[in-house]
Amino acid sequence: MKKVLFLILSILLITGCNQEKEKQVTSIIKKENNIAIAIHYPNFQYQKLDQQIKKEIDSISQEFQQMSSKEKELNIDYDYNILNDRYINVQLFIYIHNKKEYHQVKTFHYDIKKKKLLTLKDIINEEELKKLVPKIKTILTKQYSNYLVLDKLNETITPDFSHYLQFYFDDNDFTFYFDANQFTKEYHDIIRAKISLDLMNLTIPLERGMFQEEDVILPTRKQEPIDQNKPMIALTFDDGPSKYTNSIIELLKKYDARATFFVIGNKVKLYQETIQKLVRYGNEIGNHSYNHKWLTKVSDDELVNQINTTQNIIQETTGLVPKLFRPTYGSINQHLREKISLDIVMWTVDTSDWKTTNSKKIASYALKAIKNKDIILMHDTHKQTYEALKIMLPKLKEQGYQFITVSELNEILATH
Ligand code: ZN
Repeated sequence: MKKVLFLILSILLITGCNQEKEKQVTSIIKKENNIAIAIHYPNFQYQKLDQQIKKEIDSISQEFQQMSSKEKELNIDYDYNILNDRYINVQLFIYIHNKKEYHQVKTFHYDIKKKKLLTLKDIINEEELKKLVPKIKTILTKQYSNYLVLDKLNETITPDFSHYLQFYFDDNDFTFYFDANQFTKEYHDIIRAKISLDLMNLTIPLERGMFQEEDVILPTRKQEPIDQNKPMIALTFDDGPSKYTNSIIELLKKYDARATFFVIGNKVKLYQETIQKLVRYGNEIGNHSYNHKWLTKVSDDELVNQINTTQNIIQETTGLVPKLFRPTYGSINQHLREKISLDIVMWTVDTSDWKTTNSKKIASYALKAIKNKDIILMHDTHKQTYEALKIMLPKLKEQGYQFITVSELNEILATH
């Protein structure tokens, strides 16, 4: 009896610990007609923080649903840091394209030790805020001189805590965010005032210089010879990584399968270990933008930014530079083709794995459709995709199929 109790306690303890550590990103990506949605937000397994983030996401989504345009886009991206293993800072970048562009930042702060959400009042005192007001005003006046409405600026930038709800800090800088039109006109981008921490006094015990550069791990790739007389396909997975990616790469390994993962840059940091393992197992990584914006709709600057930021973060994490790019929402035009120097990869079989949770249906459709040298579109962000692969892989293997990367397939297609 004692033994059983001990076992149960141990299991509770182990699962409890795992849960605590398991940070995840939730991604919702869909496009129906001309309404495109890509939402990414982190879950930290701290209830108060997660609930507050979710509440904000729901409220923005609802607002977006009510916008009447036939063609519109919602994109929510995130960034976060954890300082001193204690303070979690999260920022959501909200972008809505509905006739015109609209940008907003929402921030969230959590003290792990005190189990408490933080506001600016918990971080600096009144005296400090008074000292900051002229500094913030100077920065804003310099940066947004062409757009400022001075009366409104003077009304907003006062020593009143309720005027500074959105802010972010790391161990170098403190950034205040303001909404467009709060004291500007005809300015639609994010308004921010960044102040060096050297010029501030925080009331929380924050140690400086805590960030360390990550070591770059150079993976060893496993290359198996490809038999050109046997059929082959390139499985591709978009929108990840996610909590399902690890199971998918383990399953692929079981069937000597390699695949190509078109990842979203903003998730690479959180799923760093999965990404490194994925490469070590011989899979290929491609670029699928930084936060899944509808790229035929963005400016050239934003396009370059979406692609390069993702290239850089993948290189920092794996030591590899992706060669392939898959357009978001499968949306491509001549301009993108000219601007993007990576190989643009579409697909020949769309499994529509995001449209149904019925894994048998996904598998049976795919098995019927797949033929030699196909490129298969799937998403490693769904449980049903993993379940469908469990059905598909043994059957395809039995038919002699080899599962290779897109670059390997491209090479074979180029030489025949
Ligand atoms: Zn996608």
